[in-house]
Amino acid sequence: MSQYIDQADVIVIGGGVIGASVAYHLTKSGISDVLVLERNELASGASARSAGCFTHSRSDVSTIRMINRTREAIAELEEILGEPFGFRQHGSVRAVFSEPRLQEMVAMEAVMQRAGLGVREIDIHEASELVPWLKLDNAVRTIFVPEDGYADGALLATSYLRAARLSGARVRRGVNVTGLIAEDGQIVGVETEEGPIQSRWVVSAPGVWGISVAGSINFGFPGAPTRSHYWITKPDGTGRPGQPNVQLPDVRAYFRSEVGGLLVGLQEPQSRTYDPLQLEEDMGHMNLFDDAYDLDLLVEQASALEPIIPDVVKWGFAHHIAGLSMYTPDGKFVVGRPDGTSGLIVAGGCCGSGLAASGGFGQVVADMISGRSPSIDTSLYDPNRFGKVEPASQEFRDRCAAARSSKSRGNLNLPSSLVAAQ
Ligand SMILES: Cc1cc2nc3c(=O)[nH]c(=O)nc-3n(C[C@H](O)[C@H](O)[C@H](O)COP(=O)(O)OP(=O)(O)OC[C@H]3O[C@@H](n4cnc5c(N)ncnc54)[C@H](O)[C@@H]3O)c2cc1C
Repeated sequence: MSQYIDQADVIVIGGGVIGASVAYHLTKSGISDVLVLERNELASGASARSAGCFTHSRSDVSTIRMINRTREAIAELEEILGEPFGFRQHGSVRAVFSEPRLQEMVAMEAVMQRAGLGVREIDIHEASELVPWLKLDNAVRTIFVPEDGYADGALLATSYLRAARLSGARVRRGVNVTGLIAEDGQIVGVETEEGPIQSRWVVSAPGVWGISVAGSINFGFPGAPTRSHYWITKPDGTGRPGQPNVQLPDVRAYFRSEVGGLLVGLQEPQSRTYDPLQLEEDMGHMNLFDDAYDLDLLVEQASALEPIIPDVVKWGFAHHIAGLSMYTPDGKFVVGRPDGTSGLIVAGGCCGSGLAASGGFGQVVADMISGRSPSIDTSLYDPNRFGKVEPASQEFRDRCAAARSSKSRGNLNLPSSLVAAQ
């Protein structure tokens, strides 16, 4: 096989948090001949732009287990690397103001309890002690999820990779994978701009670029590059150390402390998707802002928040961060083998939760490659569950955008109880 310029037992495409976690979990499973290929800088895609929230309010137990695994992995990384990682597990306060959101939240609480989390209802006095700027008089239910928190995405990715390297994994930056090499459905390596590299397994984890990589073997990866964005306020002391995250699904908003200010995430009523075949190769080169539209959105969504956060009108916004992550039509992840292939696992479709679920992704991929029985049920994440899809079509992208917009199951029209309280 002299035409190959290199070889490895497992090639991992992408040095973001998912590829990095896969490399760590493979080495942890005793598979050390792992080669991570990253064309830019490590963690330079969505992972560096993540809001970093670990949110366990989910509609299925598997996703909670994926996130639990990340929290466990962080403790292992601290042990292996001999330094604190800085995961801030301060919990979160989640309040709902309408009947539909109440029903969803009660269902999610049952799922969280089944998964062993310590979720509990809190009254408005406890909520305002935890988060003084919240006015929850008209909330129909408020809960506290103690396991929630936040972490730095780039740090998590590089920590996984440092630990993987200590166990023998190799990481090559500046290597652009141009396609997969298939022989009768068996994936035997990857094409790169430097030449082909041979492997027994390929794990494709290139984030929003996964559609073009999978397209090289005519597999329509079921997701769309979808914009997420958030603002960061000036450090005016509103975001105190130790303050829990806040989620307000009725107004599609989430918050967490950020260096004395607040990170304010507002999910758009109509999320923007991008043509997966026309993406710049570096997220830093993408123009993801539309200043006038974004400002209108901020004003509209911030005004909707006023009944719950009376001081919102006084907040000064200092930063606006945007990035792309891959959303699927049902809001569930994608991990497994595309039908008709062997030697290939696709891992992505993180639906804006890839940082929190990264440990689970790494664990289940390592289970698949080492032939162990799966430690987390991944049947919901089957890459083939939508049948044949055309990821670049507008119709398919619209289905994915709808999943993004309803992620927190919010509704910009405030419930009448809230409006009455103004
Ligand atoms: C604004 C925003 C806020 C978010 N907030 C949260 C949050 O609060 N909590 C949470 O859990 N998640 C959040 N996410 C989602 C999370 O950031 C992503 O799910 C996660 O980072 C995806 O990781 P990844 O490794 O799949 O992709 P990426 O981090 O994008 O990494 C993919 C890597 O693959 C490389 N690559 C691509 N193609 C090739 C190729 N052909 N050859 C070689 N290398 C290649 C890229 O250069 C890139 O470095 C957010 C995302 C955004 C954009």
